[in-house]
Amino acid sequence: MDILKLTAWQLKELLAKKEISCVEAVKLLLAAIEKKDKSLHSYLYLNPGVIEDAKKVDKKIASGGRLGYLEGVPVAVKDNICIKNMPATCASRMLENFYPPYDATVIEKLKQSGALIIGKTNMDEFAFGSSTESSAFGPTRNPFDEMRVPGGSSGGSASAAGANLCFGALGSDTGGSIRQPAAFCGVVGLKPTYGRVSRYGLIAFASSLDQIGPITKDVRDACMLMNVISGRDEKDSTSVEIKIPDYTDFLKDDIKGLRVGIPEEYFASGIEEPVKNRVMEAIRLIEKQGAEVKRISLPHTKYGIAVYYILATAEASSNLARFDGVKYGFRTGNYKNLREMYMNTRGEGFGAEAKRRIILGTYVLSSGYYDAYYIKAQKVRALIRKDFTEAFKEADVIITPTAPELPFKLGEKKEDPIKMYLSDIFTANVNLAGLPAMSIPAGFVSSLPAGLQIIAPHFREEKIIETAYTIEQSLKGGISG
Ligand code: GLN
Repeated sequence: MDILKLTAWQLKELLAKKEISCVEAVKLLLAAIEKKDKSLHSYLYLNPGVIEDAKKVDKKIASGGRLGYLEGVPVAVKDNICIKNMPATCASRMLENFYPPYDATVIEKLKQSGALIIGKTNMDEFAFGSSTESSAFGPTRNPFDEMRVPGGSSGGSASAAGANLCFGALGSDTGGSIRQPAAFCGVVGLKPTYGRVSRYGLIAFASSLDQIGPITKDVRDACMLMNVISGRDEKDSTSVEIKIPDYTDFLKDDIKGLRVGIPEEYFASGIEEPVKNRVMEAIRLIEKQGAEVKRISLPHTKYGIAVYYILATAEASSNLARFDGVKYGFRTGNYKNLREMYMNTRGEGFGAEAKRRIILGTYVLSSGYYDAYYIKAQKVRALIRKDFTEAFKEADVIITPTAPELPFKLGEKKEDPIKMYLSDIFTANVNLAGLPAMSIPAGFVSSLPAGLQIIAPHFREEKIIETAYTIEQSLKGGISG
């Protein structure tokens, strides 16, 4: 048996049955990381205490102690989520030496569940990007083809999960950063409803859009991580007090009567034909199993990218104002006065994409342009949200491709920001509307994974899970072309 190919829930069972020790599993994982991650570069940092942590788990199991929900399961964490006494660099020079003195709420919860932190994963700088190429510490590669990108910005987490270098990971999603890399790396990624998971301890990109979520090898693992990290948190006023179900209760292979909406705007020109075909094949499979598939329309879809890049950059420019060389993080050595200190710190500390976003965001918020861009974008955001509300009167879930393309080559879009931004065309509107959505594997095209996205109404993650689980079970045989 190849332990590393197990899912988190399978590993958990083996550990509890003492068929494998936690130390053994962690050592296998570290050896695989040592071997494969030199070229993949999914990790920026490995937890030096993880073997000690594993020993404690083994002791607990041996003594018959009460085991946590994820006892002994090694999880990887995106480097914009704070863990006490580990670096949180956001893949930026600006935070290269930043060690947060506290745990994010999701980390507190993971630790309480008995999960082990294996390390921190690579990402686009401050989560700005769709390829992980904007990391200040070098790009991550796609486990299916190392000449290609793993997607982004949670590319390190997705690549680690896809390459069996972790048993589950956390990512963050502002405009697609969990779902698109999950699609590119052949794994499952869930962006929860805005407010479902606490953002406390997530280094902010765009606070009205950011959400933390799981990236896992299968749908059951995603449910289990959601069971651990969800819930209202006093430290995040935007988190919501709504009952959390046991998400694994919805792993039912039965979707008779489920109304599935297929938005015409998401299958129009611009999408790579083989990706579209994989998604359509999966839809036909669930139709055969009794789902009722209907064509729907989300008429404001085409404004999504423009609206997203106005609002996300506006919020980012404001959030990133705190990195000024005074309070924490990088400070230039090259200055004669305070003004120069600010300027050179930010000039040297941020990479090109971060600077582009700060400039763009500052511009759309500046006097004279605020109404024309920021306010207008907010109004269109309301229309995009309304499109979904209308659509969910006719459909229980909406299915679309996750990304318009297969994993692209390193360097292919790096110098062309507009091309890169268009990668978010099917994911960003979901964030603008605050909805939950999951990407799951939809088969392969010439050995590269394609992803399918399932969107549900606010706080109806269980509808996504039912649909995803059914598709996952039907595709077990695999479709490829
Ligand atoms: N690719 C999108 C962007 O560059 C989304 C990033 C994200 O979700 N963090 O903004």
